[in-house]
Amino acid sequence: MSKHFDIIIVGSGVAGLSTLLYLTATEQYKKGTLSIALIAKGELDQTNTDWAQGGIAAVNAVQDNFEKHIQDTMVAGGHVNNINIVKKVINAAPALMQDLIKWGIRLDKKIDGSFDLVKEGGHSEARIWHYQDTTGHALQETLVKETKLVEKLVIKTNNIVLNVVKDDNDLFHLLSFDKIAKITENLSCSQLVLATGGVGSLFEKTTNQSIATGDGIYFAQKLGAKIKNLSFIQFHPTGLYSDGSISFLISEAIRGAGAILVNNKKEPFMELYDPRGSLAPRDVVSRAILSEMQKTNSKHVYLDATQIDPVYLKTHFPNIIKNCFEIVGLDLFRDLIPVIPTQHYACGGIEVNEFGETNIPGLFAIGECAETGLHGANRLASNSLLEAIAFAKFAVPLLLDNINRLNSSIYLYTHQLPALKIIDRSEVQRIISETAGVTRTNEGLINGLHLLRQIQKNAPTMETRSDDENFIANWENNVILAIGMLLLEDAASKDKNIGVHYNLDLV
Ligand SMILES: Cc1cc2nc3c(=O)[nH]c(=O)nc-3n(C[C@H](O)[C@H](O)[C@H](O)COP(=O)(O)OP(=O)(O)OC[C@H]3O[C@@H](n4cnc5c(N)ncnc54)[C@H](O)[C@@H]3O)c2cc1C
Repeated sequence: MSKHFDIIIVGSGVAGLSTLLYLTATEQYKKGTLSIALIAKGELDQTNTDWAQGGIAAVNAVQDNFEKHIQDTMVAGGHVNNINIVKKVINAAPALMQDLIKWGIRLDKKIDGSFDLVKEGGHSEARIWHYQDTTGHALQETLVKETKLVEKLVIKTNNIVLNVVKDDNDLFHLLSFDKIAKITENLSCSQLVLATGGVGSLFEKTTNQSIATGDGIYFAQKLGAKIKNLSFIQFHPTGLYSDGSISFLISEAIRGAGAILVNNKKEPFMELYDPRGSLAPRDVVSRAILSEMQKTNSKHVYLDATQIDPVYLKTHFPNIIKNCFEIVGLDLFRDLIPVIPTQHYACGGIEVNEFGETNIPGLFAIGECAETGLHGANRLASNSLLEAIAFAKFAVPLLLDNINRLNSSIYLYTHQLPALKIIDRSEVQRIISETAGVTRTNEGLINGLHLLRQIQKNAPTMETRSDDENFIANWENNVILAIGMLLLEDAASKDKNIGVHYNLDLV
């Protein structure tokens, strides 16, 4: 028999946990008339949220106002953002910060007791609320702590959802695999929230956690939901250059504090590309770095933080100092940091309305897996944690509406997992990275798509078993391939360069 819940949330990052906390604060939950389960494929804190550094954007200071934040968001997004969504999220931001403060988040304050708001690239005012350079960890920790105080919740960690279908009674059926107990379980719900995060694992180098394989987008597409602007991938200009596939992020805030980009001859170069210098938007900086690497025939450029006041550097960036030392043995007070543009954020995803609902009734997408219209063609720094919290709150009234209380226990769905292909993940990542990176070409995209389709067609089929690590890894590889094809198709369909999409043939 399947276990039935009114609402199932897949994901334990800022999107999943804030949705859970807003839902459990309602009268329905307190009265015991609402059942909720949350599933995460790793530990609760194995999320991109936990790794966010810079902070959360929200207007607070007197010299700032909503109009300026709206303008900055529209400019970054190439003015193809949904203006109504931009206004709704930005106007809601100060109240959302109060929710986080009520939940107990740690945030840096100045000596006078006011919040220490900082500026990041693309923001015209200092409006980034942060805790040192580990805001994401402070946020995740707060949300986990609050979640643990809620009674009657069903939380399944290390459980990976492998399949989702919708039946004729409008109920969603999920097949979930417990990676520790090595058993599969059938779960069903009336309302399903996908909060599965980004797609970093599609690329050879990413700042994302390994959980970011695009699973929610895969489920949504199979259920018939619309997927939009998947090719709007933001590359962070300053991923730490190192051997591994996960590239530690050197936050933009360090450039906000005065660090500058220099080439391998130690010459500053950003002013040659943009009058805003090292603080130009991420896509501009990423392209400038690649051009400089080509010109100087080098594998990376450098970020020079040595001119930042050492006391400021130490108090504002302890995590970056620690990681640069631990990963590559650098002393930030003395050494230059080797950096390269690295996959960072999916601006597109599952298309949703202003309440986070997709075109499939009862199916919601929140957080990085969703395309809400806030970011347009490029996300303004620190607007993504904000977006996730905002839509978690906006979704609650609709999630509570239309809960279908059909006795679903009689509907045990027998999941048919599609036959898996044995996929070489690094080969797929190489094709996607080479053809859908910072700069793209028509030929590259067409070839890339062709190669991915060939892999799909010719790869050997795997025996369908769900009880070993190999199967799960390969299941994720199949998802990466499927989402990679969607991404390249979307990139190939774009007829102009905008935001993060930059096709040399369209210049
Ligand atoms: C290094 C780094 C720094 C960043 N800095 C900032 C910043 O300063 N400000 C900002 O606004 N944004 C920042 N971002 C972006 C931001 O952190 C993310 O967009 C945001 O945290 C995404 O939250 P989420 O809840 O959507 O996904 P995540 O936090 O990634 O959570 C995804 C969840 O989905 C679960 N999941 C996925 N697939 C399945 C499945 N099949 N079955 C079960 N569970 C599944 C995972 O286990 C996980 O719990 C940064 C991102 C990175 C990587």
